[in-house]
Amino acid sequence: MLDFPLKLLRSSPADPIFPGMNELGIPTSELLHTRDGAQVALHEEGARVTRSRFGRKVFVRAVVEISNYCRENCAYCGMRRSNRDLNRFRAQHDKLAELLIHHRPASVTDVNIQAGEDPIAVREVALPLIRALRRETPLGISVCLGTLSPAIYAELKDAGATLYILKFEMANPASYAGMEAPGTFEERIQSIRHLAAAGWFLSSGFIAGLPGQTDQDLLANFALARELPLHGCSVSPFIPGDETPLSSAPLADIDLTLNCMAALRLMRPDWVIPSVSALNLAEPDSGYRRGLRTGANLVTINITPSEFRGDYLLYKRDRFIMTEERILTAIAAEGLIPSSQSLAEFYRTRKVNGNAHHVGQSSSLVGSAVQSSASP
Ligand code: SAM
Repeated sequence: MLDFPLKLLRSSPADPIFPGMNELGIPTSELLHTRDGAQVALHEEGARVTRSRFGRKVFVRAVVEISNYCRENCAYCGMRRSNRDLNRFRAQHDKLAELLIHHRPASVTDVNIQAGEDPIAVREVALPLIRALRRETPLGISVCLGTLSPAIYAELKDAGATLYILKFEMANPASYAGMEAPGTFEERIQSIRHLAAAGWFLSSGFIAGLPGQTDQDLLANFALARELPLHGCSVSPFIPGDETPLSSAPLADIDLTLNCMAALRLMRPDWVIPSVSALNLAEPDSGYRRGLRTGANLVTINITPSEFRGDYLLYKRDRFIMTEERILTAIAAEGLIPSSQSLAEFYRTRKVNGNAHHVGQSSSLVGSAVQSSASP
């Protein structure tokens, strides 16, 4: 179990980053529950800090969902192995390669390859797809494939992926075990640290509004995110999946989720923070755009072939699909513009603690640089 320094959870009047946050950027629970004028001020500050760091540019990534087989059994996820009602699929790598090489939306600079935890799909679909994309396109390549072995991580990196997305899901180890989240909490954290030390750029994340989640749990998510060697982090609203044991639990509060996003932005102005599509399930039509208003600077266009989309079941069968048109409309409506620089290129060239980081540079140095910048 992680032992957080108590000072991380204490609010201090000395030099606060924002009223309601301590000097390390950890918010109070009052700030996470704030509403009305104070909430608007929080979100506006999140957006302001983002604009001063990233300008009006938002990264545009495509996601392809390559397999819904999963060896894990997360209580919150519709793809859990116990869900026997799901038609399981693995996509064909050559069809996805054709789609991404010749027919991807023009605004897309990066692709994220996502799946249930399915080592077979990693070998048979992800690896050949990554090699083809590396050969034929300038796309930055992210993967979100779950907790795998160090040898598979290394193969994915050798093939050409540079960003790994591994959410820690929740910082409370007892809840993690109770929700049957992937492997053990310790293994998940160890994988995150291993990936960073092995030279990956790393994004993680947590779920806001999980059943039973306390304010202390929420604050622990911030303290943990801050301690990890991350380059980005997401906050996803809990969506009660139809075909999960949590189907009758309440949907996450959109305001709590957005407040967490804004607070995360203020805690780490340099992180890439996505506006996740589930925000539009938590608040139809406006949740996603409100995410951009809190300081998110990454959006995702779903280009999974329609024949598979219905079975990539995180939440509900009628998914809200983020098409290019929806994404570009939302970006423009918020006065933002799609970035022509890929996320991968941004990470490769941006400064970490004052030093430009280049892939191939000693990865443990980078991991420790990020860690030390995050240390109290
Ligand atoms: N299997 C991979 C893994 O474990 O990282 C990647 C795919 S998994 C479906 C991607 C993410 O979906 C998880 O990390 C989890 O945070 C999120 N997720 C699944 N069910 C969810 C739900 N009901 N509400 C919110 N987020 C959910």
